[in-house]
Formats: sequence, C-alpha cells, structure tokens
Amino acid sequence: MDVKATVKQQGKVATGLALGMVKDTAALISCRTRLTFQVWPYLHQARLGRLPVRGCPGSKSTNKKCRLGCGKLETTGHVVCCCQVNSALSIKRHNSILDLMVAEAEALAHSVPINHSIDSTGMRPDIVVTSTNPAIIIDVTVPLSCAEGLARAKDKKIEKYKHLGSVLPLVVGSLGSWLPSNDAISLALSIPGRRWNNLKRKMNLLAIQGTTRIIYEHLAYHTEESDPMPEEDEETEDKVFCNFFSKALFSVHLKIKSIKSVLISLISDTGSNEPKNIKLIFGIRWDINACIDPATG
Ligand SMILES: [Zn+2]
Repeated sequence: MDVKATVKQQGKVATGLALGMVKDTAALISCRTRLTFQVWPYLHQARLGRLPVRGCPGSKSTNKKCRLGCGKLETTGHVVCCCQVNSALSIKRHNSILDLMVAEAEALAHSVPINHSIDSTGMRPDIVVTSTNPAIIIDVTVPLSCAEGLARAKDKKIEKYKHLGSVLPLVVGSLGSWLPSNDAISLALSIPGRRWNNLKRKMNLLAIQGTTRIIYEHLAYHTEESDPMPEEDEETEDKVFCNFFSKALFSVHLKIKSIKSVLISLISDTGSNEPKNIKLIFGIRWDINACIDPATG
C-alpha cells in the first residue's frame, strides 16, 4: 500500500475521537482492556485509513469494487459501516449496544419497550421510554467515527423521528468515538455519572469489537489475485515493531510480577500479605492477571 496516498484519510477518525472520551480511549488500550492483541491491528489500521481494501487511495488492485459483490467502491468506510452483505454483523453490533442500553434503563426501573410502534405510520424506534414525561425516543446508530459522520447520523435520526416526540439519538462511532450529545440520555433517565461513564466505556468497546469482527470477516474473502495485501517491507516493519512492543510489554509485566513477589515476601515478614499493601506502596492498582502474555495470545 502506498503510505503517502493514505495520508489524506488519516486524521478523519481523530476528529471523532477528539469530541470526547479521552480517558476512556486510554482505558481501551491499557493493560486492563478487554481488547485482544489480535484486534489492535484492525482497529488502528481502520482508524488510519490503512486497511488493505481495494478502493483505498494508492491501491494496486485492478478491481476497486467490494469483494463481497455488493457493487460499491470498497473503502474503509464501506467495510466498516456500509456493506449490505455484512449487514447481519452490523445489526449484531447495533443490537449489542441496544441491549446494554435497555438493560441499564430497566435496572433503573424505566419502562422501555423495544421496536414498539407508537403511531399509525408503523415507525419503530429502537427504544421508547414510557416511564418519563414526556416519553423519550432513543435510537441507536453506529456510523463512521469521524466528527462529520457522527453529527450526520444524529441529524438523520432526529429528522426521522422528530414528529413522534422527543428524540435522543445514541450515536456510538464504529471505531470508538462518542458524540457528547449522547450524555443527554443520562440526564433524561437519571443515570448516575459514574454508572453512565461505565456504560459509555462498555458501549464503545462493543462498537469496536463488532467493527473489528466485521473487518476480519470482510478481509477473509480474498477473491482476486490483485486484492491488496500488505507490502512485504511494511509487513516486516510492522512485525518487527509489534514483536519489539510485545516483548517490551511482557518484560515489564515480568519485572512488576517479580517486584510484587519481593514485596509480598517482605510484607509477609511483617505479618501481613494483603494485596492492598501493594496498592499503597505503588499508589496505583496493578492487576497482574489482566496482563496478556504475548506468547500465548
Ligand atoms: Zn460491499
């Protein structure tokens, strides 16, 4: 892939990430994240517009159309959000976020019928919260992660349902961005701040996991000889970097583990081996078990 040709694509997703969730983005890539190493390349390549798709700038593929046969130009945006052939996975990603929102609302004793028709038009918003006055329509959407894509998705939902009442779109970027206007939902449903922040993090994680699954399934269809593959030298560079990073991380993991063992033995000598002592000494909570051993994946 021509790296220079993809430069114009880079920075678009960053406009969406910059809207909020700075701390949560950091949490998603910390040692405590539930994202695996296998998912990271898909996530970061997609964020940088460097997925090996046929229609990306600089692609040497002779056929620029979607490899799944939908007939559209195969771009990162198409793979992540628009391809109808993979719509089952997109729906699954959408529903995972919807289910989480419903569970949270029900836990707070709200009445939240799903896909409920509320007038003769037959329109069925994802959620209608009937326990508030007036009722609130919440509709989940997972668009492109750039700021423009998030704002467009929100406007589209409001335009679609505004004649039915108060609409609060829940817009979660496909690559882990968050539209600040979503926070109006927490106020409307009286969701406590800490609980809402946890919910935001989980929704972002679900969006990313769903998207990386879609990318994996899409790229698995290698149907033509000209389909773009990572260039040999770039593959080597990436591998060298990943190997170096993984080894460095694992080395730090082992060192901290050995330090912890020494501290426990020292503390045991004084009559206490409670883990909270480790927390006090470091000033942070470090969960050794959360680290991933790159040797075993
Ligand atoms: Zn397609």
